[in-house]
Amino acid sequence: MPDGLESESRKLLGRLRDTMANQAAGQERLDQITHLTADSMGTEVCSIYLFRDDETLELCATQGLNPESVHQTRMKLGEGLVGRVARTGKVINAADAPSARGFRYMPETGEELYSSFLGVPIQRLGEKLGVLVVQSKEAREFSADEIYALEVVAMVLAEMTELGAFVGEGAALRARHTQPVLIRGVTAQEGTAEGHIWLHEPRVVVTNLVADDPDTERTRLTDAVEHLRISVDQLLAGASGDSEQVQVLEAYRMFANSKGWLRRMEENIDRGLSAEAAVEKEQSDVRARMLQATDAYLRERLQDLDDLSNRLLRILTGQGHETGAELPENPILVARNIGPGELLEYGRQLRGIILEEGSVGSHAAIVARALAIPLVINAKRIQNEALNGDHVMVDGDQGVVHLRPDDTVVSAFRDKMAMQAKAQERYASIRDKAAVTLCGKTIRLDMNAGLMADLPSLENSGAEGVGLFRTELQFLVRSQMPKRTELAALYARVLDAAKGKRVVFRTLDIGSDKVLPYMAAEDEPNPALGWRAIRVGLDKPGVMRMQLQALLRAANGRPLSIMFPFIAQYEEYTAACAEVDKAVAREKKLGHALPEKLEIGAMLETPSLAFACNKFYEEVEFLSIGGNDLKQFFFAADRENERVRRRYDTLNVSFLTFLEGIVDRCNTTNTRLSFCGEDAGRPVEALCLAAIGLQSLSMRPASVGPVKHLLRRCNLDDVRKVIHDARDAGEQSVRPAVMEYLRTLA
Ligand code: PEP
Ligand code: MG
Repeated sequence: MPDGLESESRKLLGRLRDTMANQAAGQERLDQITHLTADSMGTEVCSIYLFRDDETLELCATQGLNPESVHQTRMKLGEGLVGRVARTGKVINAADAPSARGFRYMPETGEELYSSFLGVPIQRLGEKLGVLVVQSKEAREFSADEIYALEVVAMVLAEMTELGAFVGEGAALRARHTQPVLIRGVTAQEGTAEGHIWLHEPRVVVTNLVADDPDTERTRLTDAVEHLRISVDQLLAGASGDSEQVQVLEAYRMFANSKGWLRRMEENIDRGLSAEAAVEKEQSDVRARMLQATDAYLRERLQDLDDLSNRLLRILTGQGHETGAELPENPILVARNIGPGELLEYGRQLRGIILEEGSVGSHAAIVARALAIPLVINAKRIQNEALNGDHVMVDGDQGVVHLRPDDTVVSAFRDKMAMQAKAQERYASIRDKAAVTLCGKTIRLDMNAGLMADLPSLENSGAEGVGLFRTELQFLVRSQMPKRTELAALYARVLDAAKGKRVVFRTLDIGSDKVLPYMAAEDEPNPALGWRAIRVGLDKPGVMRMQLQALLRAANGRPLSIMFPFIAQYEEYTAACAEVDKAVAREKKLGHALPEKLEIGAMLETPSLAFACNKFYEEVEFLSIGGNDLKQFFFAADRENERVRRRYDTLNVSFLTFLEGIVDRCNTTNTRLSFCGEDAGRPVEALCLAAIGLQSLSMRPASVGPVKHLLRRCNLDDVRKVIHDARDAGEQSVRPAVMEYLRTLA
């Protein structure tokens, strides 16, 4: 860069800093910035447009346009050149603005006099705040250096906006992070929570944007990058296998060693920025590229680079949780995404979790469910909007987040929570009673579990036992394959905690969405229909054998129930049983105690098993319907896909009829049958399942109370009649009819 320009840019930044340092009110500061920018860039006009709301920009300060139009001129996102810069986040550099595409004439500003136009977005961490424009009479294109200078001013404006520099008397801007915000996401775990925000990765606030001594800043930057490289190497040394985590860390290392990355940041310093601001400027450019990238792989790598910049900023500013900040009271965790291990570290201290991304079937969601912590995913912009310590209300039932709620929302939400607490009291009062219906049928209610942390719920929820223990969670939350002795010890603790109540251990159900971090992931075109669960267990039996041994040792003579997931045909069941026989024979030979009673069952998760041969139904000791998978295959609707996963009602007549067929077969062969998908925990669904003949349901612990409460108030003969009448009447779903029946209850 020519020396002259470099010092020009530094001069402009120096003047900006002086402006910022004085105690002027918000509007005055904005006015001063437009004035000095126009002056430094040799243009007649400099204007600042800021967002009034998500869709509207307002002229908030100007040098050169009609001063009367300040706070009067507004435009919609996408409207005119300014609106286009705001919408696309891209620079517009036009020598002849009036003839440029999208130009909108605004007579009140006197704009027709100006030929050239340069507009750059004002944005912070990908969040759009407004547009900064310079215009001149002379018809000319602005140079790359001029664009750079204006971008730096925009960045300073964005940082200062974040710091609240433009709010106050006669303010141009609303104070940021003070307004109530409603964010609609997606439910991943029901429940409600009130608390205070804890940002998993706190946002870094840069206060010293401009620096006089480039040498010092360069040294600070290279020291920080060195620190970063060492920490990435350490993380890599601690990671194992060919996991996704390793891939990400490799990408981090590549970027951290990239000369181009460092050079671009050093150039920013030469132009007058501090080391932090230099990193942020580079980060903004990366974000802009990220928005444009259509290739998923490229976007992911840019995301990695973005994460790396955040780490670098935290090193430079000393901000972040490393500095020893403490969790607020009733912490509500906010993160873009979080791994199951990290979530377990927070554990039950959390009242709620809000993720900007995430998916219903992610490991984090599985852990949140196991811990019964309300979780909202896909909460867009939460990371930009929330500050550490902000008051927040999480409505996991509706998938809604109320950030900094106003009084009316607070009182309505607290009413809802109070009603839920009342309901909890009701459930507690029937905790030790059986789920006996008005017609005298007793329905067995078990709970689903997967972590040690679930076990206390066995007592608190009133569940009779554990109808499904998902053993894969223990594998998912570790970075290495657990050893047999570790597993045996864990299963033994589970059986100890169950105090003789039945626990059904499901063997490893991996594949599909559940990928172990330390096993090479198979790239499959359709993982849900791919090499998963028992298919992996039978093809590569090493892990399953180890697990079976661990279970037998853990039982140490006590009764043991083992269930195989995803059995699609009879032979898979017999092959799995043969593995159990082998494991038992081996234990016997070694002189270890064998279970006093060993029962082996299968999950019915594919429609094929509903039509398996009679032999299967006669031999299998118990069956459990995995409704989550069974439903996705029945309707051909991916349970992970937000677009379709709620499209078909469980109470759809065809699905209920299909389930009734399974119940009938089991009745004929006297096979024990239960249902352990999520629907078992939804009271209305549970009622219908019981009405069509399911006598055993396994659900999340928190659902046992509500399901029992409803069952005890209903007559299953009546509900069955309602279901059959609706079917005979040609209804698509029996839900409306059942809801009508429920309204008639006292
Ligand atoms: C099911 O598919 O219903 C089930 C209980 O198993 P998972 O949700 O673990 O796949
Ligand atoms: Mg399943």
